[in-house]
This record gives sequence, C-alpha cells and structure tokens, in this order.
Amino acid sequence: MSRPADGPLAVGVDLGGTKIDARLLDTTGRVFAHTRAATPRTGGDAVIDRIVDAVATVTEGLDRDALAGIGVGAAGVIDPADGNVVDATDAIPGWKGVRLATALSQRTGLPVRVVNDVHAHALGEFAAAGLPGDASLLLIAVGTGIGGAFVRDGGVMAGAHGAAGHFGHIASPHAAGLACSCGGLGHAEASGSGPAILEAFQRLGGMAPDTYAVARSAEQGDERALTAVELSARTVGSLVGSLVNSFDPTHVVVGGGVPHIAGWWQAFEAAARHEALPLLRSFTVSPSSSEAAACIGAASLILGSVRTSSTNRSTPHD
Ligand SMILES: [Zn+2]
Repeated sequence: MSRPADGPLAVGVDLGGTKIDARLLDTTGRVFAHTRAATPRTGGDAVIDRIVDAVATVTEGLDRDALAGIGVGAAGVIDPADGNVVDATDAIPGWKGVRLATALSQRTGLPVRVVNDVHAHALGEFAAAGLPGDASLLLIAVGTGIGGAFVRDGGVMAGAHGAAGHFGHIASPHAAGLACSCGGLGHAEASGSGPAILEAFQRLGGMAPDTYAVARSAEQGDERALTAVELSARTVGSLVGSLVNSFDPTHVVVGGGVPHIAGWWQAFEAAARHEALPLLRSFTVSPSSSEAAACIGAASLILGSVRTSSTNRSTPHD
C-alpha cells in the first residue's frame, strides 16, 4: 500500500468480548483499512496473536515510517499508565493480569497505548462530534451491561484504578431488591440492561428466549413487553438525569443495543429530563454516532487529536 495520507497514521483497535475491530486511521478520523475478527476464547496469548494479525492486515504494504503506533480500547479495567489489564470478567478467559501494551509493543515494535474500551468509545464520540475543546461529553452504553465515561478537557476521566464510569453499578430506586451482575443489590444494571428487560418480562409471566424477542413483542404492542422495556428506559433515564446533575456535561451520548428498541428512547429521554435539575434540563442528548467510535478514540491516543487526561498519563511504549 502506498502512503494514503500526508499526516501520521495509527491503528485503532476495539477489543471486546466477542470481536476485535481494527482500523487504519489518520488524524481526521478517516478510515483507510478495516478488519474484524472473533475474539479467541482460549486465553490472553491467543487474543494478542489475533490483534497482531489484525494490525498486520490493515497495515499491509504500508511504509513503516507512516505508522505512528497502535491505540487499543480493551475490555476490562485497564491501567492507562502502563496498559495492563487490572481486572476482567471471564468474558475473555485469562484476561486479568495481561500486560497488553508491553506485549503488543514487543511483538510489533510500535508505540502502543491502551485504555478501557468504553473510555475509547467516549473519546471517539468526542472526536467524531467535532466538539470544541471546552465541551464535555458523558457517554452511557446500554447493552448486556451498563457502562460509560466522562470526557472533558479533551481527555477521559479514568479514575484512580482506571475503573471510572461503572454507571450501571449506581443504586437505582427502579432496581430495588434486584440482584446485579456484580453481586450487589439494587444497581441500575439490574433493571436497565438488555438481560434485565428479559428478566422483567419473565417476572410479569411472559415467555421469551431472549431480549430480542421481548423487543419484538413490545413492537407488536404486548403489554408485558412494553412494561419491561419501559422499566429499562426509566431506569437509564433517571440514571442519566442523575449523572447530568453530577457532571453538568454539554453533551450526552447514548450507545449500545438497547436504545434501538422501539419506544425505548422516548421514555428514556422523558425520564432523563425529569430527573435533571431545572437549570440543566435542556442538556443535549443523542444516539451514538458511529460504530467506528471506539477505534477512532483508540487511535486518538496515538495521534493526539484527543488525549487521555489521566493523572497517570505516560509516554507510549517504544
Ligand atoms: Zn452492580
């Protein structure tokens, strides 16, 4: 491949529990090559091998000096200072403790930076929206779980452990008495997530194989399905309204699969504005802009158009 742009290029990698997405990008977010692969279920070394393969695929034939490095948004709690996986669920077996940035840098000879995948997503949304430097963005993603991130001054708030943004594990009155995936009780995820919609439907006596089926029933006007979907929407709405009261962001972005369920968004937005303080009630809220957002945010760690503002900021591994 000849050099496709004048400026520097980076590979942005979005590493989730089911898929690895890699894109070759420039500082404007333009994508020159893209590949996607399934996340191996056989341990950390296999995941690293697959990322190395994906990077090789999207940079094939590229002049080495055109490539500034690799940015990764990875599942799990990531220490942005050293790119180590501090904690992880068993979604990727053997993932906790993997020294991801160091391993990728050794294998590729390139600078590597790693942050949490939701943090990368938020950085990408900020960049994709072309927001001014004094803007701030709250991202909340609603799918199998509920997570998010807060971006201000061009950087994502990582927290002392790299774990900031576990918004699904905030207590919610809508989830009172319900068990959460974290082992806690009454957290927003227990009544707001995709699996929570299926569970609410089943508590009401409904029968469905999965959340998709409940969503289809809601679309057809099934009362129990509509109630289950509305519980999720009101839970996430009141959660977002509370977070708006906490962070006072200029922009709120909502991602994940659940907001696509028919009727969910209207109930969500009404609950969010109701929960927000009167002064803040007119906040801007929009759906996630692009499936490439996490790759754009990851690449921006290298390209510098958006930089993490962690107190543990480090130079790339090189
Ligand atoms: Zn929880």
